[in-house]
Amino acid sequence: MSGAVPEDAAPERLDRFMARANAAYYAARDPFADFATAPEIAQAFGELLGAWAAVTWQAMGSPEPVLLVEAGPGRGTLMADALRLIRRVAPAFAAALRLHLVEFSPRLRAIQAQALEGAVAGPITWHDELRSLPDGPLILIANEFLDALPIRQLVSTGDGWAERHVQAGGFVLQPAPPPPWPLAGRRAAPGEVVELCEPALAIMRWLAGRVTGVPGAALFLDYGPDRDCVGDTLQALRDGRPAEPLSDPGRADLTAHVDFPALRAVALAGGAAVHGPRGQGAFLSELGLFARTERLARGRPPKQARALLDAAHRLAAPDRMGRLFKAMAVCHPSLGVPSGFGMEDAA
Ligand code: SAH
Repeated sequence: MSGAVPEDAAPERLDRFMARANAAYYAARDPFADFATAPEIAQAFGELLGAWAAVTWQAMGSPEPVLLVEAGPGRGTLMADALRLIRRVAPAFAAALRLHLVEFSPRLRAIQAQALEGAVAGPITWHDELRSLPDGPLILIANEFLDALPIRQLVSTGDGWAERHVQAGGFVLQPAPPPPWPLAGRRAAPGEVVELCEPALAIMRWLAGRVTGVPGAALFLDYGPDRDCVGDTLQALRDGRPAEPLSDPGRADLTAHVDFPALRAVALAGGAAVHGPRGQGAFLSELGLFARTERLARGRPPKQARALLDAAHRLAAPDRMGRLFKAMAVCHPSLGVPSGFGMEDAA
């Protein structure tokens, strides 16, 4: 499938362009040749999230069965690492969980099936979107999923708003209504871009209803600011390097910063308890990233041990992925503070 459109095509709203480009990209290419995600950097990442899910399940009252869901599982590495740990340290959770994966790329579904062969006793069920998950208590994990969802970009013009559309590899502006709540209150100077990720907001609305009905908890890890944000954050990565986002749809991975404050506001308004966003470094450190890494490193040749510690540092250090990446949990209000969100961030 090609993401190309004829040069003389009508202007296409940015979110529609991005949806088409990413569907083509994930269907045809190996994203992990273009960027390294946390589970591909360190096995401790998936293991700690497996432990997080097991502890959360206990806090939920150990419901049986429980849906364990991952949205955007990529190569299946995170879930394979998580389930290996769960089978070892939380066999009752391993027996209770039903694995559901939300993935729209048939190519990645096949890779995930291979990575997770024998990892769960029952079947694995794939979905195109979260809404088709069956009812019941759920624990959801999503790493670098929200950043791939299509965004709209609205520009304040001084006497109204305009919206970015894509035409012939560049942006054109078309008049638009003002951005809706929760972005409406955000002050944008003339010419400044405000981004709106409607699918992510819809997921939060749906999730808030879902996790407040039956016991549930969802954990999102992604990159983006923890305060109100304005500005253009659309970016493209191709062959591991920044690329021009509009020029070659389907050939590069298109992402945008996740607007955590807006997602938080929507989930809270829906009645859910929200924890974070909190820096990934603080979150993972509280879950025991360094203790786990030291254990993995013990007895290994010095070069391997050093590589494991370097990987943990890359995930947690403020000047690497530790601060820009955030963790945010959306939970049933009676659940209490989930692990990883309990301690105050150091100044
Ligand atoms: N969580 C993985 C992969 C991140 S890449 C990791 O950390 O390595 C983004 C993942 O989300 C891919 O699996 C991609 O195919 C999936 N994805 C992106 N947009 C999607 C959409 N709209 N619906 C379903 N899955 C999507």
